[in-house]
Amino acid sequence: MSDRRIPLAGVIGTPVAHSLSPRLFRYWLNRHAVAGYYVPMDVAQEDLGEALTALPKLGFRGVNVTIPHKVAVLGLAEIVSDRAALIGAANTLTFQKDGKLYADNTDGHGFIENLRAEAPDWDPVAGPAVVFGAGGAARAVLSSLIAAGVAEIRLTNRTRARAEALRTEFGNRIVVLDWVQAGNAIDGAALVVNTTSLGMTGKPEFRVPLDGLSPGMVVTDLVYTPLETALLAGARAAGCTIVDGLGMLLHQAVPGFERWFGVTPDVDDATRQAVLRRP
Ligand code: NAP
Repeated sequence: MSDRRIPLAGVIGTPVAHSLSPRLFRYWLNRHAVAGYYVPMDVAQEDLGEALTALPKLGFRGVNVTIPHKVAVLGLAEIVSDRAALIGAANTLTFQKDGKLYADNTDGHGFIENLRAEAPDWDPVAGPAVVFGAGGAARAVLSSLIAAGVAEIRLTNRTRARAEALRTEFGNRIVVLDWVQAGNAIDGAALVVNTTSLGMTGKPEFRVPLDGLSPGMVVTDLVYTPLETALLAGARAAGCTIVDGLGMLLHQAVPGFERWFGVTPDVDDATRQAVLRRP
């Protein structure tokens, strides 16, 4: 099949209606005058393999992957990037010209690019990082912090065993602390990251004591609904530099757009506004 077909991409998951990616990609396609389309596709677990076989035949160059398929797609890919293998999940699939399915994970890239853009003074070697949570998002954050050169990462999670398992996997730069000590973990840190779902609309509030926060610290929350979580509001009041989670979502989408549509899209305030605007 020729490459002259209109380039298509999309996001697969179930449910998928809540995804902000279609709005983001539509904005970038218009802004960069790319004649392509990006569609949300609700794909049931039992149809995943069939969908991934059919999509390239229909002109799809790749898809983003969201809940609940992020782990299952690894088993269906012929090529898995090192970072996707390390994280144990993929969010960006590319249907290569040689017919192979390439699985990548760009969450860690999105996390670190967002930090670099919004907190340019953050220095990975300036001091310890604190990471709350040990789920899928934490894996991406830990791998990118280690790659950035952070020497000490204090990891704390409600279920301590999950944090211990990540220490075993990611190595001894990680120091595991009890969840009841989460507030103490902040003392003397350069960076504080919430990767739990606490504070998200509809979830319990993030109640870790924030007395240890002080000016000069960078505090970021992966939760982006609401944009300013209680953690970020507390950090703002304490004089910290705050970075919200929406930027990570935008930055993690850049590699896919580049690969599928051949243009590096801009991540700037206009992009944020386009995604936040009601459709
Ligand atoms: P996950 O794998 O389900 O992990 C959830 C984490 O939250 C676990 O550490 C869990 O602790 C903790 N948690 C849940 N309820 C808790 C409670 N009541 N008290 C204490 N801890 C609790 O989810 P995930 O994929 O890592 O996602 C986590 C958050 O990051 C979500 O809000 C997601 O939307 C957000 N996220 C944002 C981006 C972005 O681009 N901004 C990207 C990825 C994820 P236990 O281990 O004890 O259960």
